[in-house]
Amino acid sequence: MLRQAARRSARGGAARAFAPPGRTPPTLRGTACLTTTPRRARGDDRRRRTEQEQLLIDLLRQGARDLQRARAARAAPPPSETYRSTPPYAYGHAPHQAPPSQLTPRQQQLTIVLVLAGAGGVYYICHLQQVPETGRWRFLDVSITDEDKLGRQSYEQTMQTYGNRVLSSWSPDAVRVRKVAQRILDVCGDLDRARAPGAPPTQWNIHVIASPEKNAFALPGGSIFVFTGILPVCQNDDGLATVLSHEIAHVLARHPAEKMSGFTVVYALGLLMDMLGFDIGLSRMALNLLMSLPNSRAMESEADHIGLNIMAKACFDPSQAIAFWQRMGGGTARQGKLAESAQSLLSTHPVDSKRVQQIQQWLPSAEQAYDGSGCAQRSAFAGTAASLTGSTPFSMPRTRAAPAP
Ligand SMILES: [Zn+2]
Repeated sequence: MLRQAARRSARGGAARAFAPPGRTPPTLRGTACLTTTPRRARGDDRRRRTEQEQLLIDLLRQGARDLQRARAARAAPPPSETYRSTPPYAYGHAPHQAPPSQLTPRQQQLTIVLVLAGAGGVYYICHLQQVPETGRWRFLDVSITDEDKLGRQSYEQTMQTYGNRVLSSWSPDAVRVRKVAQRILDVCGDLDRARAPGAPPTQWNIHVIASPEKNAFALPGGSIFVFTGILPVCQNDDGLATVLSHEIAHVLARHPAEKMSGFTVVYALGLLMDMLGFDIGLSRMALNLLMSLPNSRAMESEADHIGLNIMAKACFDPSQAIAFWQRMGGGTARQGKLAESAQSLLSTHPVDSKRVQQIQQWLPSAEQAYDGSGCAQRSAFAGTAASLTGSTPFSMPRTRAAPAP
């Protein structure tokens, strides 16, 4: 059939059009003169026609192959599809190689946050320290020098506010506070050296402020302020020792520096959460609730614990700490369980009931420290001396009161 088509095409002169370059196109001349041509000429014509037909067949076959190739090319997937189907391990061998990967802005942001978080985590771990007295791990990246500088600034601010109400050092309240404080400070030498190796010993100065506030505090660098409003709550030297040893314990355990370091952590975490797109106000609130407040309560409990041991070593009755905190909490109205739970979560200090509970747990070890310091003998000696002279030794150790139920 292909041969017949070739014959028909040859009659139409298609051969010239399909002739390959450099090859003489076959002429179809003489086909109209077949009857008048001699025998030899007729044989030549037949041979020539056969060659022409074969040439046409070849050309048509070539055209059919070209057509098939064009159809296959149209049916093949576009170059991009070919590229997508290239397996990843063919990178570098495929004709179309993948362009270098480009991160979206969100991925870039996440990468920066991850790098910063990693660097911050390493910095945090490198600045973890243990409180020598309790073994609690905490983050601390403020030097003693900076901490003392902060204490001096706070001292100047306090003196600007209350300087005109500081009692004379010879007033009875000032003398009493100073004597109790001195006994406590005398047993703090070892703890003071534990603040930092090579740090100079703290030089303490004590001020009593005539103010009804039930408050007292100690500053880094060695300043103690006691408000006269808290003295009636103390009732006796043991109660006053509870307050003073708690405040001194804050300084010895470097809680002001820990608080400053905690601000850095909260600020850095807030910044990272802000970069991740969290609302900055909510993230700060969450960090305050989850980190700052629990840490503050932990420091308060730790000051209770260290202070209890200090006052016991100084021969003040540690069980009187329980009575003091019960008196301090006595002014507040009794609350339900739910309100107390909310307060324990939202307060910088432990609730009084929990405070008393914890002190009761620490009391046996504090009493051991009291006995180990020879306080019982000193108390008996002081009692004998007082009975002989008929006076009450104001700052001498007292016989321990019965533990609170
Ligand atoms: Zn405190």
